[in-house]
Amino acid sequence: MSVTVRVPAKVNVGLAVGPARPDGFHDLANVFLAVGLHDEVTAAPAPGLELTCSGPGARQVPLDGTNLAARAARLLAGRHGLAPDVHLHIAKDIPVAGGMAGGSADAAGALVACDALWGTGTSEAELLDLCAELGSDVPFSLLGGAALGRGRGELLTPLPVGGTFHWVFAVADGGLSTPAVYREFDRLAQDRTVPPPEASAGLLAALRDGDAAALAAALANDLQPAALSLRPALADTLAAGRAAGALAALVSGSGPTCAFLTADASAATEVAGALTASGTCRTARVTTAPAPGATLLP
Ligand code: ATP
Repeated sequence: MSVTVRVPAKVNVGLAVGPARPDGFHDLANVFLAVGLHDEVTAAPAPGLELTCSGPGARQVPLDGTNLAARAARLLAGRHGLAPDVHLHIAKDIPVAGGMAGGSADAAGALVACDALWGTGTSEAELLDLCAELGSDVPFSLLGGAALGRGRGELLTPLPVGGTFHWVFAVADGGLSTPAVYREFDRLAQDRTVPPPEASAGLLAALRDGDAAALAAALANDLQPAALSLRPALADTLAAGRAAGALAALVSGSGPTCAFLTADASAATEVAGALTASGTCRTARVTTAPAPGATLLP
């Protein structure tokens, strides 16, 4: 018997980053939107904790104890006084180290899959607590949809979304380290006062109304200058998508994946074709949002 959980990637449609805190983290006003690129985490009985991974980018995924899915299994087992006996398989389709929270998605998926396999009956509130212990983006991977994250991003308020948005994601060659991007943010901010982070009212209204043009006007990512500083070629990717008719372009989270909001499905196909032809990215993926959170597959 095995169980499989599908988990979505995310794009930050509004990422306001506050000053560095004494603990090194930054207070955020982080508006997450789950998008229809997915990993699938399958949990099956095993004599100990085993981990395998397949799919594009699988070779970049660590298969040791640092893997977030393995950490999730150990955390849940420990909470219930069990041994973490499970074979976890990650079918990976979310770009690795791409600013789309793939590792966080796998952690949320592993929690839900192991909970079902072991029959531990963990409530959603307890699962959210475990998610927050595993990482700032993990609670959102569990919930999906759209949400405002405060604190490090883990204190979530779900947000209403009034329609379907059409996106293209330009996947880069190689990843960017999230901690390195935050260090670059701090370096670029050293001569200015960073204001407290706020989510824009216009952004929340655009999501609520399902208004792509308004969302395009409100997209904002405070990490984008840092990601561009570390990877200047991303400016060419953003420009290529804009020139092809995207309503707006931005770096996804800490990058290097670039996100393009389009008016409809046919514009998305056109932008993806132009991005691929431009040679400014490895591949371009078309999808929609919002996507549901971690979902047990039948
Ligand atoms: P975020 O947007 O949450 O900052 P990201 O999408 O940029 O993250 P991830 O794909 O989550 O990046 O991976 C970041 C690093 O985490 C990888 O380089 C890898 O070493 C490590 N990692 C641990 N577990 C996983 C996992 N299950 N899948 C992918 N990477 C993992």
